[in-house]
Amino acid sequence: MSSGKSVSSSASSSKPPPLDAPPQELRDVSPNRARALAALGIQRLGDLLEYLPRRYQYESAERTVADLVPEQIQTVRGRVIAVDCVLIRPRSRFEATIEDDAGNRLAAVWFNGAYLRSRIVPDQLIRMRGRVKFFRKRPQMVNPKWELIDESAPAIAQDNLRPIYSATARISSDAIASVVAANLDDAVAGLSEWFRPDLLERYQLLGRQQAYRWIHRPGALREAAMARRRLVWDELMLLQLGLGIAKRQRDAGAIAPVLKLDKLLDQRIRDRLGFVLTAAQDRAVWDVARDVGSGRPMNRLIQGDVGSGKTAVALYAMLLAVANGRQAALLAPTQVLAEQHLMTLTNLLAGSHVNVALYTGRTRQAQKRRLARDGSTPDLFGGDAQIAVGTQALLENDIAFANLGLVVVDEQHKLGVHQRAVLRGKGSSPHYLIMTATPIPRTLALSYFADFDLSVIDELPPGRQPIQTRWLRRTEAARAYEFIRKQVAAGRQAYVVLPQIDEGFADDGKSVRKEFQRLKTGDLSGLRLEMLHGQLQPDEKQYVMSRFRDGNVDVLVTTTVIEVGIDVPNATVILIDNAERFGLSQLHQLRGRVGRGRHASHCLLIADAATPQAQERLETMTRTSDGFEIAEMDLKLRGTGEFFGTRQHGLPELKIADLSEELPLLQKAREEALAILAVDPNLRRPPNQLLRRELIARFGTSLQLAQIG
Ligand code: ADP
Ligand code: MG
Repeated sequence: MSSGKSVSSSASSSKPPPLDAPPQELRDVSPNRARALAALGIQRLGDLLEYLPRRYQYESAERTVADLVPEQIQTVRGRVIAVDCVLIRPRSRFEATIEDDAGNRLAAVWFNGAYLRSRIVPDQLIRMRGRVKFFRKRPQMVNPKWELIDESAPAIAQDNLRPIYSATARISSDAIASVVAANLDDAVAGLSEWFRPDLLERYQLLGRQQAYRWIHRPGALREAAMARRRLVWDELMLLQLGLGIAKRQRDAGAIAPVLKLDKLLDQRIRDRLGFVLTAAQDRAVWDVARDVGSGRPMNRLIQGDVGSGKTAVALYAMLLAVANGRQAALLAPTQVLAEQHLMTLTNLLAGSHVNVALYTGRTRQAQKRRLARDGSTPDLFGGDAQIAVGTQALLENDIAFANLGLVVVDEQHKLGVHQRAVLRGKGSSPHYLIMTATPIPRTLALSYFADFDLSVIDELPPGRQPIQTRWLRRTEAARAYEFIRKQVAAGRQAYVVLPQIDEGFADDGKSVRKEFQRLKTGDLSGLRLEMLHGQLQPDEKQYVMSRFRDGNVDVLVTTTVIEVGIDVPNATVILIDNAERFGLSQLHQLRGRVGRGRHASHCLLIADAATPQAQERLETMTRTSDGFEIAEMDLKLRGTGEFFGTRQHGLPELKIADLSEELPLLQKAREEALAILAVDPNLRRPPNQLLRRELIARFGTSLQLAQIG
């Protein structure tokens, strides 16, 4: 700390160390422990306070052997005086006898306990917990929990909840607990309350000090739950405050090009689309038109289930930008999808002068090489292309846009918050339009996506028939292939999706390569099969995809590269093999590859469900095709981090709150946060200043908060 007053600190030893004190200055922390704590990210006392127990273990007070009563779970300590390992089939048995201070003995037996031979040896001091039985008048525990302890380990004096912390090889949960215990009072004394008493009362929240005391040292599980609730509240409030401020900062004075729309232009764009927009698409288009005509940057999320026609809205917006003399960029999550978009755009724009360029990782290589040669500035469009379609590569920040007006992010909401800053363009900010088929559960919509305006496409294009989904056991697989043959005979096409390209070392599930060979010569012999997967060269992928699209391939044997966006309306069957290996949203997305035209479509899931969770996913799939219901269920089954597919999404991480569970609290936190910001937008008032500091520390980077006010 740079307080400059360290001289006085030794004199006033009663003064609690500040929350910024490094571990080596804390009680009960040796240099070794300090290093081990630092490795856990604990750099200061405050971090220790926030290193929360993962769970609690109920512990009964230690008793002496003489005090043990039958049939109760009790804890006892003693020295190991004898061990024996009996290796008799069918199960081995490890036995130990311990003796307490009074010289009374207790026997313990662990079935299948041969592994304990090297771990429990005579002379060790051991603590055991288990149900006590009497066997020939001698007390005995069967399969007790046990731990080795030091001579100095204090006896557990009363029943309590023992906090269990995430530990490492260098520092045990108990060691962390003892450091926490030694410093908790000091740390808690350094905490100030940052919410007004009436707010705490309204939601029956503990004070901060009490919350931290109880989360680390609860007297009962109810106290731990109350403590957790307060800490969840803080986390949600801070996130909401951060989002509120970030939104205002972004909006403040941000200028975006005015994209004008008139009747004539509207008609020209619609003519190009080639179908009549649904009422829901129309609403989304008007939302977009209003936003981009306002002179302020649009931040709009279009949410619509797979096949609802989001891409059409995106195309509309891009043509609008181009007609206004601005460039548009379309970001796709995969190369295959980027190429499909390029094709759609090229077809739509046939006969016009609009130039569309594809920009992927590969283009980038080529361009880099060229740049290295002539050293010119990397202006992507060179003045003649107005629409860039690409993958992540488009986001590399050494790409300059001469005149960027609109960025569309297709099917990848995880790009949303974080990467908006990257494609800022020169001068004014571009408009942002984000498409997502994975409906965003309410809790996420209220948190991570809180600063987006939302258009929902809740209607499918006319003539769609519901997709029939069936779950077949492996023994019924022949029926699935029979069905595919029938559909192909009727002129339709099919996907067969497998979880992997090649088989792993452990024979775990089917692979594209093997299954392709097997089907070709077996169940689907005589049909025109092709493989599509991520290891193909980009132009091979493109070639296979275009042959499938043109109807020259009957069955595409593939991985999840076709997961999102792929649009071949004549494909009416998707068979997902080893379906138990796919996530729920993923299954739903895959299913969305069919049912995109006027023919009835089918999704066949082949799986022998391994786990209850897998079973739940598959049953959900057969029960509903409501993407919203599926997303909620998926979030519940997987948790937030996983829901986004990766933890590297750049969104602020929540440590305590589980967004799949906290909707009511989140709604309240949002209201309260907005209320606070309404009267104190920069969090300048005295108690709010604390929030402000914490906000910058926690979410400053992830929410890209500039210095607040
Ligand atoms: P999403 O991106 O929402 O999954 P797409 O935009 O790819 O859906 O549309 C799915 C299919 O429906 C495409 O073949 C598209 O051409 C077609 N489509 C979209 N809107 C309409 C419409 N209003 N009328 C008829 N077909 C439509
Ligand atoms: Mg799409």
